[in-house]
Amino acid sequence: MSTAATSTQDPRGTQQTRDALASLHDELVRRNPAQPEFHQAAHEVLESLAPVLAARPELAEAALVERLCEPERQIVFRVPWQDDKGRTHVNRGYRVEFNSALGPYKGGLRFHPSVNLSVVKFLGFEQIFKNALTGLGIGGGKGGSDFDPHGKSDAEVMRFCQAFMTELHRHIGDHTDVPAGDIGVGGREIGYLFGQYRRITNRWETGVLTGKGTGWGGSAIRTEATGYGNVLFLAEMLRKRGEDLAGRQALVSGSGNVAIYTVEKLHQLGAVALTVSDSRGYVVDEKGIDLDLLKQIKEVERGRVSDYAERRGASATYVPGGSVWEVPADVALPSATQNELNAADAETLVRGGVRAVSEGANMPVTPEAVRVLKEAGVAYGPGKAANAGGVAVSALEMRQNSGRDTWSRERVENELATVMRDIHDVCWETAERYGTPGDYVSGANIAGFERVAEAMRAQGLI
Ligand code: NDP
Repeated sequence: MSTAATSTQDPRGTQQTRDALASLHDELVRRNPAQPEFHQAAHEVLESLAPVLAARPELAEAALVERLCEPERQIVFRVPWQDDKGRTHVNRGYRVEFNSALGPYKGGLRFHPSVNLSVVKFLGFEQIFKNALTGLGIGGGKGGSDFDPHGKSDAEVMRFCQAFMTELHRHIGDHTDVPAGDIGVGGREIGYLFGQYRRITNRWETGVLTGKGTGWGGSAIRTEATGYGNVLFLAEMLRKRGEDLAGRQALVSGSGNVAIYTVEKLHQLGAVALTVSDSRGYVVDEKGIDLDLLKQIKEVERGRVSDYAERRGASATYVPGGSVWEVPADVALPSATQNELNAADAETLVRGGVRAVSEGANMPVTPEAVRVLKEAGVAYGPGKAANAGGVAVSALEMRQNSGRDTWSRERVENELATVMRDIHDVCWETAERYGTPGDYVSGANIAGFERVAEAMRAQGLI
């Protein structure tokens, strides 16, 4: 990595690089109409790149940044399946294989009615930089479907997963593209997807999917990794400011995979998670979220957070339709979905005394809200750094699969802690090197970009 930049250079880059990046973004918007999430994710990265391109003009040669913004391959397909009453449904499937300069495409599958090409491209684009930050040799991709698993029977979910994999199998492989879970895709779905892949290909190719069960090729700690990793990243941000996570009150949004293990790690480190939420409302529990009850309702019964409040007793209140950001607390960990924390929410958080915000979800904080937090001096960890623990343990799962090996829980947890500390430090040091000390957004974007851009440059015009 270059040491050309110094902390004395203009952190905004030169006027020329800023203009070039602005026109590149205009062109991206023109060529990808009606993709607001993708525009937003690309804008956030391009905005950060001016100083690195001014210091290292070779990384802008041969239209490198334009190539980075164009997926290597975009696959859109029909997914027909039958429900329990024999009715036929047609969903749309996606896999965007964005960049493989550093390794096989890697990124989750999302099953949610809001999934469209814009959402998959924003997630795939973010994934390139996130995966580069892990240093584990993985490229960026993402996929999913507008299928909604809520309210479907196990048999319906299985038939959908089988139909989805019937097309997807021809595009993936342990050296090509390795999907995992995301919203609406957990251990159950990965099991059905893997079973269908194995049936079609007649190959025991465990490294083709991650997030598998630990009895058949999965890694210890993969389920916990994203939430655990985000809390470790938050603890590092606080430590850098001379503060401790222990004793802090925390807001967590969402109540899925990321949220549950965020709550677990917060409690392990002596903080108190006050809230969880779903798309209908939130729960505030003044004694701290009861993890066993939450897991029983969400992981076993697949229920709602309102059920939690009903069964928890007097300490918990359910607020239908509200947002967890209304509750005063020291730290916030948005862990549900994109754009779930807007500028007004950020102002409420700041008034409530928030010290740090660390993103478990992808792009949950809107650009306007990020500005509010930064101006108030709140530490802010962007998802592509803070939630990289999940994909990092996925990469460790791939390593175990290729060596037909199974690592202990302790070993994987130690490796996760090292990866998260390294990601924190590279973001911190890169931000300092390019004149934006303490800005994890520019640190993450530039550090990820440098790794991918150097590999793309070395590999020629492809
Ligand atoms: P889950 O499906 O397990 O949980 C998602 C949670 O978010 C649910 O509580 C869901 O509520 C809520 N949610 C989803 N969409 C909305 C919405 N539009 N409005 C309000 N609430 C919503 O997903 P994960 O926990 O796996 O993922 C959460 C976030 O973390 C996503 O942004 C994902 O991209 C990101 N992420 C996940 C990783 C992983 O390893 N799983 C890795 C890195 C990032 P409801 O049930 O009501 O829909």
